[in-house]
Order: sequence, then C-alpha cells, then structure tokens
Amino acid sequence: MALPKIYTDETAARTHLEGLLWPDGPTCPHCGTVNEATLLKGKSTRPGVYKCRPCQKPFSVTVGTVFERSKIALHMWVYATDLITGAKNGMSAHELHRMLKVTYKTAWFMMHRIRKAMEETNPEPMGGEGQPVQADETYYGNTSKRSKSYKRGMRYKHGVVALVDPSTGKARAKAMRATGENIQDFLFTNVHRSSELHTDVAHLYFQMGQEFAAHKTVAHGSHGTGEFVGKDGQHTNNVENFSSNSNAGCAAPTFTVKSSTYTVT
Ligand SMILES: [Zn+2]
Repeated sequence: MALPKIYTDETAARTHLEGLLWPDGPTCPHCGTVNEATLLKGKSTRPGVYKCRPCQKPFSVTVGTVFERSKIALHMWVYATDLITGAKNGMSAHELHRMLKVTYKTAWFMMHRIRKAMEETNPEPMGGEGQPVQADETYYGNTSKRSKSYKRGMRYKHGVVALVDPSTGKARAKAMRATGENIQDFLFTNVHRSSELHTDVAHLYFQMGQEFAAHKTVAHGSHGTGEFVGKDGQHTNNVENFSSNSNAGCAAPTFTVKSSTYTVT
C-alpha cells in the first residue's frame, strides 16, 4: 500500500502541518496575529514563508517546532512523528531506521528530537497546594472598529498570556487569539488546580478562577512603579502577600516570548 502523500511529499507535509497548527489561518509566532499574513514567493524565498502584515516579520509553520532549521525533509519528520506517537509499545531507533530508510544515526537523532518535543509540550502544571501563580495578558494589534481584522468579523484580540510563579520566578507564556476559552484552556493545562490564582480584576478570570483553590485579584498600580494596589481593603493582605513573595530574595523574573520581553516586579 502506498504511503500517504504527507509522508512522501514536502509540500503536502507542510500543508498538513499548517492545517493542524493554524486552524484559523497563518498565525504569527512573533505577535500572535491570525490570518493577516502574505505568503512570500520568489526564487530566493524558502517555501512556506509568510510575512505578518501587522509586525512585518517573516515566519513559517515550522518556527518554534522540532522541525525548524532541519536539513531533514519535512515529510520525513511528519512520518517519524506519526510513527513514534502512534506506536503503542514504543519504538526503537532501529525500527525507525528501517521504516524511514534513513541511516541509523539520523533515525536516532530524529527520535530524540521528537521525544524531547513531546515532553516539552506536556510539561508539569505550575504551582501546587497553596502556591500562588499569577496570570496576566497583554494585547497586540488594533482592535478598533476601523481595523481590517475587525471589519472582517474577527472581533477578538490577539495577545500573549503569561503565567508567573512568584516564588520560583519561573514563567510560561503563549501567543494566542485571546478569547476567554483559549485563556481558560491555557490556564487549566498549565496551572495546578490546588494553586492560588492571582490575576488583575479583568472580568474574564472570574469564572475560571473558581476552578482553583483560591482566586485573588490585584489592581495594577501605574506601570513602572511596580506597585500593586488592592481594589479595596479586603484585598490588601493578598496584595501584600503577593508583593512580599516576589520581593523575598527572588529577582524580578524576566522572560522572553518570541519578540517581546516581560518583567514582573
Ligand atoms: Zn506578527
């Protein structure tokens, strides 16, 4: 039986990945904008490279994936990934070497890259019993009624949602279409339910906040001063608790998400 085209043809493999990773159209990994990119064409351009109109940066579906900057053809990666993830009892590098008809060394390398990527996409949730985790979101792009995307009916914002564990300084962030549902999915997969969720007073967190051991809100002070002010008296303790946690012997965690840097004070 002939192999499916996605395992034998580079373009078919790329289209397959684009469909999987970009269900709503090309998604810019730099700014999170969905479906506002132009496919670049020309002899000097690698296939599958898009240019984001809002941020003007180039990207392809392989940016940030295990397949990025590889000399191994994309359809080989897709085939290997499907073989490894589909093997019920695991797969050895020898088996992969025989199935893919590549050298043992290449098969071994691919197997390790794919396994590592699988571990990274399923990391342990942050926080834990009584541990605070702070969630915050930053929006990008023009969401005014005059903008092209708004006119096209895409009335959602593009943004980056960030999670910070103030006791360790560890952070996790994701660029996404910032709908309540997407933010909730990200929180539920990445934050342990026994954690205390700390957010600003944004309405979107109220419902999902109930799923955690506690949900505490802080109103952000003016930016740059690093002050957090509770919205009323009841919240003062929480805020103080949050501030003392982040100041207690732990440097302000800084982390980079693609092109943007965030500092939590
Ligand atoms: Zn962009």
